[in-house]
Amino acid sequence: MNHKPTPAVLRVAIPTPLRRSFDYLPPKNIELSDLKPGVRLRLPFGRSEVVGILLEVTQQAQVAAVRLKRAIQLLDVEPILSPDMLWLLQWASQYYQHPIGEVFQQAMPVLLRQGRPARNKGLEHWHLTTTGLAVDPEALSRAPRQAELLALLKHHPNGISAAELNCQLSQWRPVMARLLEKSWVEKRERPASRPPTPPTSIKPELNNDQLLAVNQILTTQGQYHAFLLDGVTGSGKTEVYLRVIESLLANNLQALLLVPEIGLTPQLVSRFQRRFQGTPIAVLHSALNDQERLQAWLSAAKGEAGVIIGTRSALLTPLARPGMIIVDEEHDLSFKQQEGFRYSARDLAVVRARHLNIPIILGSATPALESLYNCDRERFTRLHLPERAGTASPPEFRLLDVRGQKLDNGLSAQLLSHIQSHLDSDGQVLLFINRRGFAPVLMCHDCGWHARCNRCDAHMTVHQHAHRLRCHHCGSERPLPINCPDCAGTEMLQVGYGTERVEQVLKVHFPATPILRIDRDTTRRKGAMQSMLEQVKQGKSQILVGTQMLAKGHHFPNLTLVGLLDADYGLFSADFRAAERLGQLVLQVAGRAGRAERQGEVLIQTHHPESPLLQSLLTHDYGRFAQALLAERQAANLPPFSHLALLRAEAVDAQAPLLFLEEARSQAAALNSAGVELYGPFPAPMERRAGRSRAQLLLQSSSRASLQQLLTPWLQRLETLKSGRRVRWSIDVDPLEMF
Ligand code: ADP
Ligand code: ZN
Ligand code: ZN
Repeated sequence: MNHKPTPAVLRVAIPTPLRRSFDYLPPKNIELSDLKPGVRLRLPFGRSEVVGILLEVTQQAQVAAVRLKRAIQLLDVEPILSPDMLWLLQWASQYYQHPIGEVFQQAMPVLLRQGRPARNKGLEHWHLTTTGLAVDPEALSRAPRQAELLALLKHHPNGISAAELNCQLSQWRPVMARLLEKSWVEKRERPASRPPTPPTSIKPELNNDQLLAVNQILTTQGQYHAFLLDGVTGSGKTEVYLRVIESLLANNLQALLLVPEIGLTPQLVSRFQRRFQGTPIAVLHSALNDQERLQAWLSAAKGEAGVIIGTRSALLTPLARPGMIIVDEEHDLSFKQQEGFRYSARDLAVVRARHLNIPIILGSATPALESLYNCDRERFTRLHLPERAGTASPPEFRLLDVRGQKLDNGLSAQLLSHIQSHLDSDGQVLLFINRRGFAPVLMCHDCGWHARCNRCDAHMTVHQHAHRLRCHHCGSERPLPINCPDCAGTEMLQVGYGTERVEQVLKVHFPATPILRIDRDTTRRKGAMQSMLEQVKQGKSQILVGTQMLAKGHHFPNLTLVGLLDADYGLFSADFRAAERLGQLVLQVAGRAGRAERQGEVLIQTHHPESPLLQSLLTHDYGRFAQALLAERQAANLPPFSHLALLRAEAVDAQAPLLFLEEARSQAAALNSAGVELYGPFPAPMERRAGRSRAQLLLQSSSRASLQQLLTPWLQRLETLKSGRRVRWSIDVDPLEMF
């Protein structure tokens, strides 16, 4: 029989917002065996060319093969994404209902998206050959440049990289070419494995709890197991990570450490570098330029880096020899991407670890309720570090009842006198406020006019130093009016307080004390945060005023008093997660106090000192606090006892979002067989923002699977709705913020 062979079809992910993959014919003159999933291809798309990733080679085209276009060019010899990454990204695209091409875009450094070669320039290395080693540079007096380079190479028996050469010699490449011709040197792709240098930093002796944790984690090497390392601030969680990683590295495995955006400090990186001298560490964060990002990404993907430290998106980095994933401060909001591909790097890290069959550690002093619940259900193993490591003792907590008290711009007399006494004994003081700016409201005393944002349902914040009104939701600003725009009244009241105002008041009360304000306004300049933190570390008596920027990761050995000016907002918020966040924040901020030998004190101003939630924080018992919240969540059938997805829509036209969501709702109702609850559409809590009206539709189910089952066909239909073209819409699976 005369069988015409079915042509091979390439299924690829293409950078487009369409929720599907695309089929192409292989490029001309390319062997099928060279088309491995994970390679990049240059492809015709519409009228332009794009770079796509090959997902699979198949026999079954989604459309008739005659209509398929041919790929233009194969861009990689070897896949740039490993099979496990291909799996993870496809899984994530499905689960988070985000277009596959955009998910793949997120996982690639910009230069690779553009089709540039996946080559690690910085890792070209030159070594002397045995012939070269025998040559005496002194004998090369007629070729001084060659002599110079030869001498330099002799000082680097393990080879020297382009980056190192650039620092030492100019125009070295033509000279190196001469040496290559003579076979005195050879070029290698990656550095010869460096001899392990003995660690110079002294390791503390682990305490019993740490030892137990390390041992338990190490017994699971080479298989999936999820641990929640639940340890109070300063209990030595990082030390546990270091020990576990040490053992991974000895087994030639890589460790991936994810940290919150604000937690990735030079101190943290240098702590790892000091401990693992001789091990290349790749650092991935948002401030890298394209070239640096590519280098770090490739060094992880090719297995050159032993430790990879990065923020959220570092989870999407391929690893050649994955041994373990660690997510530090796992409760932190920055692990969830709040726009575009709305994934949770923490949750996805667990999925990845399970797929790779390696252990994962989630660490926190204040774990997310989701994670604690996973321990209750025995999905995670809880490892507890109840005490501070070393000599530091836990701080003492107190509630300051401010009912009926006169507050000077948010500061009670009690708090002021405590500040004084801590300063008197050379302690540092940290005051925490959850609002930046001078005052959150500007009001006319004569007619009651309020300064509102023209584009949002929000007040504008007074920034006195800049002499501007600013909207913290859309960024618009205008000059601070001297007279009321409505009645021309002259008495403009600045109501409420933010960091700027508290700083000013403190200057009056403590004129001789240096005061540092740390918030988004004072740290905008690159390096500003770093230099302020240095100042704090060197100083003696000082007052710090700041927002939650100060809550995480920093060690201030001289800090003895932490004051929270207003804890009550967390008790009455519309967001069901507000209480959890408040508790986390209180304990994280408190964790800054008394990290060294000095006993710390934490004072919380409140109008609700009887609140059981605040009371349970006093005992420093986050576990008890969290159990109370979990009971409330269970009673209300809220996460983690149910699962949510939020469909958001916004448009300049106020009606369009509701119209779209109404249609979306009826589509969902028609598809829904598994009892997913539909709520809404409702206007968003802040209905107008940045000039657009916003609304949302909430889906809730006690079963993740039922929710997923509905989402996939539903999203396909939403794409075809005409009303959807008049709005900007997005789906958020497992939303962390409900607006
Ligand atoms: P965490 O990550 O839980 O905040 P760290 O690992 O940073 O805690 O430890 C806090 C401080 O205690 C660090 O200065 C660390 O060097 C020190 N430390 C950690 N473990 C020990 C130990 N077993 N003995 C003495 N000091 C320790
Ligand atoms: Zn007025
Ligand atoms: Zn605004």
